[in-house]
Amino acid sequence: MPKTRICKHCGLQFESRRSNHLYCEPSCRTKASYKRNNYKYVPGHYQKGDTKDEVQLNNKSLVSKRNHSFNSASITNVAIGTAAADTAVFAAKKIFAPNMLPATKGDIKSLRELILGKYLLIKNLPQNRNGEFPYFDIENKKIVYLK
Ligand SMILES: [Zn+2]
Repeated sequence: MPKTRICKHCGLQFESRRSNHLYCEPSCRTKASYKRNNYKYVPGHYQKGDTKDEVQLNNKSLVSKRNHSFNSASITNVAIGTAAADTAVFAAKKIFAPNMLPATKGDIKSLRELILGKYLLIKNLPQNRNGEFPYFDIENKKIVYLK
């Protein structure tokens, strides 16, 4: 039995003869596929979108994938007792906490210092009033508080 549907590409109503039809006609299905895959219409034919768009698209999907696997709940639940693991968790928090994006020059510098082992998380001191964690600054031999 035909069912009235809205074409996912052009938004026109059409009679769907099968339950899995999403587009009013094959050309809408093709155009939707081009759109999905970042093709652009230039007179006469479609061509793949320029590299800049592709990179942005790829970065977006990369970030969302990472956010998915490193959400703050799972970061909080990770409790591996080595300084290296703590450093990685801290770095992950800093990179993947959505409100911290995009990373600033300073973020990258402190990440670099973390990765190179300048700061070590001190586990027997509480967080400060700002919710920052105590770290031992190896270079300056001082306790510093970092988010
Ligand atoms: Zn259509």
